Amino acid sequence: MVGLVNAEPPEKLEEYKNVLIFLETRQGKLAKPGLEMISVGSAIAHKVNEELIGVILGNDIDDLVQEAGEYGCDRVIGLKSKELKDFRTIPYSVCMADLIAELKPNIALIPATRNGRDLASRIAVKSKTGVTADCTELDIDPTERILMARRPTYGESTLAEILCKKHRPQMATARPGIFSVPEKVPGRKFQSEIRKTTVKKENLKKEIVSFKPKSTLDLTSSKIIVSGGLGLGKPSGFEMLEKLAAEIDGKVGASRPTVDMGWIGRDHQVGQTGQSVRPDIYFACGISGKAQHIMGMRLSKNIVSINTDPEAEINSISDYIITEDLYKVIPELIEAIKKKKGGAIAPAAAKSA
Ligand SMILES: Cc1cc2nc3c(=O)[nH]c(=O)nc-3n(C[C@H](O)[C@H](O)[C@H](O)COP(=O)(O)OP(=O)(O)OC[C@H]3O[C@@H](n4cnc5c(N)ncnc54)[C@H](O)[C@@H]3O)c2cc1C
Repeated sequence: MVGLVNAEPPEKLEEYKNVLIFLETRQGKLAKPGLEMISVGSAIAHKVNEELIGVILGNDIDDLVQEAGEYGCDRVIGLKSKELKDFRTIPYSVCMADLIAELKPNIALIPATRNGRDLASRIAVKSKTGVTADCTELDIDPTERILMARRPTYGESTLAEILCKKHRPQMATARPGIFSVPEKVPGRKFQSEIRKTTVKKENLKKEIVSFKPKSTLDLTSSKIIVSGGLGLGKPSGFEMLEKLAAEIDGKVGASRPTVDMGWIGRDHQVGQTGQSVRPDIYFACGISGKAQHIMGMRLSKNIVSINTDPEAEINSISDYIITEDLYKVIPELIEAIKKKKGGAIAPAAAKSA
């Protein structure tokens, strides 16, 4: 049965201070989307002279607490228990909500990963506040200390700003791949605290017997992405893109319709409902550049469009535009790269021979 919670706002909003972030872990390591919260979270906290508090849940977390401080948290709190070794929605949300009740942060940020989305909504209900999901811009009004949470809306055509004026903490999830990972500064000073905690039996509805990580393609850390769209015309077009990607140490991305048609796996999808990427070079091959695709790749440093249509929308954000049939351009490009590599490698090879 669905129950409605009467979310009375807290009386003294001024009691709520600092920015709290959830540092997600994967297979015993700090995950990139959580590290991205450090750059945006510290910018917001420091703008109003407050602290950034990173929270890590898990079992073997001592090194991770140290690492989170070196990445830029002012304070790191680790909640340690063998029941928290792997992500589980209920124990994690109970621990986070209890910590929020104790620390009273003004803002709580969570990466909008699968686990993060699952977690954020439950924490928000337990904390009797709201959550603005999937933000791509986050800032703070320095006078009122109101979080300005911005997210694309109406099919990514508009950026909506959502304010949570009465409830605390002001919660938001942030889209992975949008904010940068700060530089790690070994030996950086910060406060840390590791607390041993226990999870109540009633919150452990399932027992994890073993954990098999699903291998997924992470495009977010790739420096070169060769993406294909419907302009490929057939699934085998991706084989050609794989060849180009292999020559330049890149990975293959895709537009959503090609994924929906089963031409390539879903973990290759770039865009609003796929991954957000910011490589050094993004090749858009036969991709028109609809808003939902652009949303996920517009922060790429260099965009190369290969499209037969000179008016394709992708061209308006591209650094290099090739108006040509991709089946003519890409094989020629592969050959040219091979030739260039051959030329570059030959003298070195001759020397060592
Ligand atoms: C809620 C929602 C979420 C969405 N999320 C995403 C998302 O995450 N990612 C995403 O990509 N889309 C997403 N979409 C879909 C999006 O709106 C577009 O439909 C999609 O991006 C278009 O894909 P495309 O560019 O491959 O195809 P098209 O728009 O059909 O473009 C094909 C392009 O190929 C060119 N072309 C054709 N033949 C050749 C050739 N031989 N050589 C070179 N160029 C050629 C054409 O000129 C054209 O520009 C979403 C839509 C909705 C409603």
